[in-house]
Amino acid sequence: MIIISEQEARALVGVPDAIAAVEQSFAAMARGQARNYPVVREAVGHQDAVFGVKTGCDTSAPLLGLKAGGYWPHNLAQGLGNHQSSTLLFDAETGRASALVSANYLTGVRTGAASAIATKYLSRPGSSVLGMIGAGVQSQHQLRATLAVRPIRTVYAWNPSPDKLAAFGRVVQELGLEFISADREVVASKADILITVTPSKQALVDKSWVRPGTHISAMGADTKGKQELDPALVAASAIFVDEAAQAITIGECQHAFGAGLITEASFRGSIGQVIAGLCEGRRNDAEITLFDGTGVALQDLVVAELAVRQALARGGCTMVDY
Ligand code: NAD
Repeated sequence: MIIISEQEARALVGVPDAIAAVEQSFAAMARGQARNYPVVREAVGHQDAVFGVKTGCDTSAPLLGLKAGGYWPHNLAQGLGNHQSSTLLFDAETGRASALVSANYLTGVRTGAASAIATKYLSRPGSSVLGMIGAGVQSQHQLRATLAVRPIRTVYAWNPSPDKLAAFGRVVQELGLEFISADREVVASKADILITVTPSKQALVDKSWVRPGTHISAMGADTKGKQELDPALVAASAIFVDEAAQAITIGECQHAFGAGLITEASFRGSIGQVIAGLCEGRRNDAEITLFDGTGVALQDLVVAELAVRQALARGGCTMVDY
């Protein structure tokens, strides 16, 4: 069994490779070759932690495994990140565990990859202004991945805590881009591509603020109760999902769905269907496209497998008899 530490995972998996791997797995899902199994997500009753298990299989690879972990809100005080997770891969031929991969950085990268793939397929090609609602850990991953697919020159951003917004601004400027901190309305109305990535439980973006032609990747809502967009904005958009069942239960779409503004039939399709050529993407320059990225197990499995492949190719990795 191969073991990959957090530090090794950071060195092994870069943004373009993660985008390519996640893109392939979304397409495999659309072709019915890959499936995510039902998600477990529970309050632990200890340390205020939330623990979850995401698992699935891509028979085309084949690739089988799970990611387990969650959110420990008091970790920062101990010098640890609040998000902690690990991926366990299995040999799909025998069921034997084959790799244990630290998944904190990899979760960030695979989530950035998901919104970048949606941006590549759904945003207008010349999009150069990125709007970011949220400036936490994940925002930097979304930013770097977006830069891999669109010629971004200016980033407008909003975040409730000014220090985090300033830190995000420094990263944007170090990347050679113009940074403008602004209120939510300005961020949403200036953006060609709008990414929301906060733990908010109420709408942060009003329908009236968003210009025709904008692409939105709603990435923060990955649990029941989380919300970032006005349900009327969701209902007015061409909606694409990573997985429909998750979108209506734990994703951004849960609110418009719950209010009866949309049904599953309202979804134009999954992003995997767009990649696989099974579904039309953006139809014109006036449409608002929305990607509801809830985060699926197969994203985690492909980036973990990518780390394993790179580690084996480079040599010198930790192996244990198991
Ligand atoms: P983080 O804690 O590092 O950053 C969150 C940011 O949001 C912080 O800057 C904070 O100031 C701000 N914030 C906190 N409460 C807010 C509120 N009520 N309204 C608006 N902003 C608020 O978290 P992160 O790792 O950047 O993750 C952000 C969100 O993305 C979380 O909800 C997380 O669960 C989600 N997430 C989703 C996926 C996915 O696949 N869809 C993957 C990873 C993380």
